[in-house]
Amino acid sequence: MKYFIGNWKMFGIPGSIKIVDRINKFLNKDKKNNKKYKVIIAPPHTLLQDFSQKFKDKKISISAQNCFYKDHFGAHTGSVSAFMIKRLGINHIIIGHSENRASGENDVILKEKIFTALKNNLNIIFCIGENKIQKRKKLTTKVLKKQITKVLKRNYNLKKIIIAYEPIWSIGTGKVPKTNELKKTVIILKKFLKLNFRTKHNFQILYGGSVDNKSIHNFKLIKELDGFLIGGASKSSKKFIDIIRNFYK
Ligand code: PEP
Repeated sequence: MKYFIGNWKMFGIPGSIKIVDRINKFLNKDKKNNKKYKVIIAPPHTLLQDFSQKFKDKKISISAQNCFYKDHFGAHTGSVSAFMIKRLGINHIIIGHSENRASGENDVILKEKIFTALKNNLNIIFCIGENKIQKRKKLTTKVLKKQITKVLKRNYNLKKIIIAYEPIWSIGTGKVPKTNELKKTVIILKKFLKLNFRTKHNFQILYGGSVDNKSIHNFKLIKELDGFLIGGASKSSKKFIDIIRNFYK
């Protein structure tokens, strides 16, 4: 099963539901391939209730983009808890996106976020990724391993965690890793996850960073990848659908 997950970030108003609607219609029509993949769209908090109700029991699923790091309710102005998200009927959440890390989320907070999301039975899309300098210094795998071990714990229900590898230098830049380099990183990560967590569980790893209808032609050559986290191109139903179409072409 491959994942195509759209991260809308700070985008969307109630009328933007038509984008999700068009994607969902495409999924229903795509009889040839639609059993091979799962589509999840992550709109901002403001749209979660409306979208999750509208697409309840539909092919497409709705995800949250983030949550507060603790509590069901509390004196945390402007925050939304994993409990509140789950109660909307939502089953997925993105945690650890580099944009959130850049605005102050550290490993300690992320560990708590994962803990509270798991406690509320949410499936987690956990983002990791190196920056440009780390890549230049050939620290990529070291950085990724550290981001994993500092946050994920052996006693967590690891089956509920999907890893999204998103090189920071690739997000929204049009720059993508070389196919063989990305393949190598994914293989190293998969091996490491099994060894480190002493598990037979096959972790799913997604790639994110400037995925579009062109770059997908290269990414689809990497059979070890379990799918994609898509930012910019997920805000247009046409662009998003073209990614899926080209993947299965
Ligand atoms: C993202 O921010 O998760 C992302 C992958 O963005 P983009 O596809 O725009 O690079």
